[in-house]
Amino acid sequence: MTDEPHRQHDSNQDTAEPQPLMDRRAFFRGASLAVSGLGASTLLPLGPTRALAQDAPRVDTAEQLATQTQRSLRWAGADPANWVRTRAGVDHNVVIVGGGQSGLALAYGLRRKGVGRVEVIDQAEPGQAGIWRNIARMPQLRTPKTLPGPEQGNPSLGFRAWYETLNGPSAFDALDRIPRLAWADYLSWFQQATGTTVRYRTRLLEIEPVGDLLRLQLEAEGARRTVTTRKLILANGFAGAGGANIPGFLRALPARVLTHTAQPFDFTTLAGKVVGVVGAGSSAFDAAATALEQGAKEVHLFSRRAYIDYPSVAPPSPARPAVDRGHANVLELAHELPDTVRWRNHLLRENRVASVPLDSIQRAVAFKNFYLHLNSPWSDVSASRNGKVTAKVAGKTRRFDHVIAGTGYRIDLSAQPELARIHESIALWRDRFQPAPGEEDGAAGQYPYLDAAFQFLPRAAAGAEYLRNIHCFNLAATLSFGIPVGDVPSVVDQPRLITTIARDLYVEGVDPAVHQRFIQAPLTPPDPAPYQRAVQPG
Ligand SMILES: Cc1cc2nc3c(=O)[nH]c(=O)nc-3n(C[C@H](O)[C@H](O)[C@H](O)COP(=O)(O)OP(=O)(O)OC[C@H]3O[C@@H](n4cnc5c(N)ncnc54)[C@H](O)[C@@H]3O)c2cc1C
Repeated sequence: MTDEPHRQHDSNQDTAEPQPLMDRRAFFRGASLAVSGLGASTLLPLGPTRALAQDAPRVDTAEQLATQTQRSLRWAGADPANWVRTRAGVDHNVVIVGGGQSGLALAYGLRRKGVGRVEVIDQAEPGQAGIWRNIARMPQLRTPKTLPGPEQGNPSLGFRAWYETLNGPSAFDALDRIPRLAWADYLSWFQQATGTTVRYRTRLLEIEPVGDLLRLQLEAEGARRTVTTRKLILANGFAGAGGANIPGFLRALPARVLTHTAQPFDFTTLAGKVVGVVGAGSSAFDAAATALEQGAKEVHLFSRRAYIDYPSVAPPSPARPAVDRGHANVLELAHELPDTVRWRNHLLRENRVASVPLDSIQRAVAFKNFYLHLNSPWSDVSASRNGKVTAKVAGKTRRFDHVIAGTGYRIDLSAQPELARIHESIALWRDRFQPAPGEEDGAAGQYPYLDAAFQFLPRAAAGAEYLRNIHCFNLAATLSFGIPVGDVPSVVDQPRLITTIARDLYVEGVDPAVHQRFIQAPLTPPDPAPYQRAVQPG
């Protein structure tokens, strides 16, 4: 049994190049990433909250992790060979945009299905894909620690196996929820353990249909590049279908005084400043607490509502029904629900679901210089020449040095640059569904109306069939599938998505003419030598 670190191998099996071996300790912590196309290992920059991540594991537990991972991968069996029939002149079978947890899980799922020539791209620097090391600002994940993740049914690739092996059997039990940077380290390790190559510093700029194929304009390492693919998965995250939501009353503010929680931002620059936070969701509270921890003089958080909604122990009631948010591993079942139920679930989720973890609230409230303003919508916002922001709030004029918009994300395909050529052809909920009177919702109507394997559908009855080759695995899929797509529960095994891609490539690869020639070809019996001696005269 060997405990050598894994070599990287390319999910695009035709272009695989040997990758450098990594430093063993870094490998176990996932702190080093091999970079496709660069042929280099890059150490991750570590943020100020480093203490919340894994401490360096002991060498013996790191070796134990390597041994058990390799044994379980051996027992799972080698990845099947790429069976997809090559289509001449096409670069990739599948391109996955996004090397975060969703992109990594889907790439691994496709590989285990025998789908080769899969390329994962990410605009981020190596090791910075996803949100966990940049714009997520909470000490621990918001979701329960026991949810399955990207391990595709192989428990030895799951968070628990990784964490317990490195930290001792009782360490997982002692966790409240998963520490954010430990989750980031785990995902890096998962990428290494599954040998998934991500082509970093590569941004999708534009999708152009060419018949049923997709021509992708990329910016790769600063240079323009064009590739073609048969299938495209948009695993580009919460901001991937419209971007950060900046309410109209904040849009006139200059960037120097306005930051959305979706932006990477150096919070140390807020030391000594008066900060206004607009919005009362989880990210708003996390930003407020981070500003206070970095020495902000005062932080004021403003909510339009009369209360802060957080998970309470109150049982569901007719006034506050339990919402079926979809279930881990069975997103496809939520897709089967009638449109009316999916629509109403969405409205309930938007309006009633408790979202801010209690500890996020407590983290901010613990500071004496944190002020919470309820029933406090903003108006008349402006920035003066001396750099102060002025706003009318509940009849008073207030002044801030900096404003943070914790106002979430919007779904608006027309705002997504890479969809510029095609968004008008994509069917939206407002095209396919007429809500009951009183249940209209303009923002919900903007969500794409997706098919069962996350495919876009054409808006018109005829044409734009190429849209069925684009699988939208981002926040925009939430209305069609019930839970925020991209959340940990949604990155588990996605059988219908993987199988549909495999089926489409498989069926397309069958050439009836070749098949017919094969069937009609005369049978040539093999050499009878192995049994000749026993053949009886007839
Ligand atoms: C602040 C915050 C906290 C969250 N906390 C939790 C939590 O605790 N639990 C939970 O279950 N969910 C949480 N979520 C929701 C969700 O799980 C995360 O957003 C998660 O990171 C989604 O993973 P993903 O891989 O789908 O997308 P992301 O992690 O966002 O990764 C998308 C990747 O796509 C890349 N990309 C985007 N556009 C392009 C392009 N044009 N070209 C190339 N690359 C591109 C980005 O660089 C990024 O690396 C949180 C979300 C946010 C925003």
